[in-house]
Amino acid sequence: MSTTVEVPVIEGPDVGKVRVTSPATGELAGEVADFDAAAVAEAVARARAAAPAWAETSLEERVEALFRWRDLVLDTPLVPETLVRESGKPRHEAEGIEVLYLCELIRGMARLSHRALAEETRNPRLFLTKKTRLVRHPLGVVGVIGPWNFPILNNAADAVAPLLAGNTVVLKPSEVTPLTSCVLRDLWVKAGNPRDVFQVVTGKGATGAALVDLVDAVMFTGSVATGRRIAARCGERLIPCVTELGGKSPFVVLPGANLERAAEAAAWSSFIHSGQVCIRTERIYVHASVADRFEELFVSRVAALRQASPDPAGGAHDLGAVTFARQIEVVERQIADAKAKGARVLIGGARRGNGPGLFFEPTVLSGATHDMEVMREETFGPLVPVMRFWESAEALRLANDTHLGLNATVFGPPFEAEAFARRLRSGQAIVNDVLVNYFGVESPLGGWRASGLGVRHGGEGLRQWTRIEAITTRRFLLAPVDRFLAKKLAFPYDPRVLALLRRAMRVLYRRTLAEKLRRPS
Ligand code: NAD
Repeated sequence: MSTTVEVPVIEGPDVGKVRVTSPATGELAGEVADFDAAAVAEAVARARAAAPAWAETSLEERVEALFRWRDLVLDTPLVPETLVRESGKPRHEAEGIEVLYLCELIRGMARLSHRALAEETRNPRLFLTKKTRLVRHPLGVVGVIGPWNFPILNNAADAVAPLLAGNTVVLKPSEVTPLTSCVLRDLWVKAGNPRDVFQVVTGKGATGAALVDLVDAVMFTGSVATGRRIAARCGERLIPCVTELGGKSPFVVLPGANLERAAEAAAWSSFIHSGQVCIRTERIYVHASVADRFEELFVSRVAALRQASPDPAGGAHDLGAVTFARQIEVVERQIADAKAKGARVLIGGARRGNGPGLFFEPTVLSGATHDMEVMREETFGPLVPVMRFWESAEALRLANDTHLGLNATVFGPPFEAEAFARRLRSGQAIVNDVLVNYFGVESPLGGWRASGLGVRHGGEGLRQWTRIEAITTRRFLLAPVDRFLAKKLAFPYDPRVLALLRRAMRVLYRRTLAEKLRRPS
């Protein structure tokens, strides 16, 4: 069987190619064009030319275009097959997480868009004769730049909200996993949708930087370092920028938690896609009274995980390859640092296999402390540390002791666990479950602090791709009053009118006796 994927060619420059390697086998998975600045400029120019017509389409037409695309994605096995080949993740995750997410996102955002993007009327209180209509306009061309760990979920899927809001999109997928985006772009065109409304430019960081220089807004998912660079450039250009960056999500086990369930959930949330997930469990805090039992259950769950070279056609295994070789170096460095500072490896700790494939055993550390790199810096690989605590207040302080703030998990008695979650400094938290909050496309989801700016999902995730024009007109029935007021307020200024205004201000704005007596609660 051929290892290279027959991905549709994205029309790009002839100069330079980016080779894509299959991480599970080390073999060539495909090649894509390396778009230089001139080629990016051509793509953005086409997107700009297509923007007015797309903005003029009705929301129903845009929803229909996304539905047509979704139908084709669902019927095209090449999508999950390509994803498995270039990322090394199990077919279950390619299809059961990434394709599922795209479908649910299109459904949910299409449904929300009618209300979120609708015009609103707001009546000013002072000038009662006026009404203001808030009209939302698309921003123009949105550049979406994605990471390598989720070739659909954090790449093409991030085009959905800007497209629904009437923007055209140019996507720059990661150079490590660009092939799935090429397949999805081809399906967009095959679905009968306008080709320049959704384009893909492939290449490395320089291609992304060229895109940021030209578009009207940026949706970026990736590392904190690149996010800062892109946000700074967007600041210079005064264009909106949403950044979804790294995480160091805590998983807290309070006394009274269901330990079986917590251990099972910790195994999935720590080792999904070999730990290369931004909202995954990055560090575990367990109450000392239940820590031995939790570790025992957790290790037995991890020991049962089936790791294998993923077959693009499917297969029963839980862990595939590590997509990006650098993550294995991070894992090895963090294990060495933690061991030197007193941590113990409970399970795993080594590379697996002698072949060219990138495999690392799922690894659990015990006895972690906050002076270890593994508790403070993002791992983004198949390694998770466990640390014990005695007081909930201490666990809260430790969980919040990070420059990041993306996701968090709390296991414990429901009310107590929710009260704990409310005091976490994190964009989202989930109680007595893991990860599935990402599928709640109805709710905004984003990071605090260095984990990013802006959100995806929810009405908020749609409206951020529009700009507001506030159009004030007079209310029809009050037209005579409106004309009278306009005359009195404008030139020529009349001292008698000012005297009247002064009196009116005292009536309107001076605190009433009731307000003076009211105490802030
Ligand atoms: P990265 O920052 O190295 O690269 C991300 C993208 O940015 C790639 O497409 C890359 O080519 C491009 N890029 C690099 N330099 C650029 C520049 N100067 N201008 C414009 N584009 C540039 O990140 P990565 O290694 O691909 O992804 C891993 C990181 O992504 C992890 O930190 C992970 O936590 C984070 N992530 C966050 C989320 C989230 O939703 N918060 C989701 C997935 C991944």
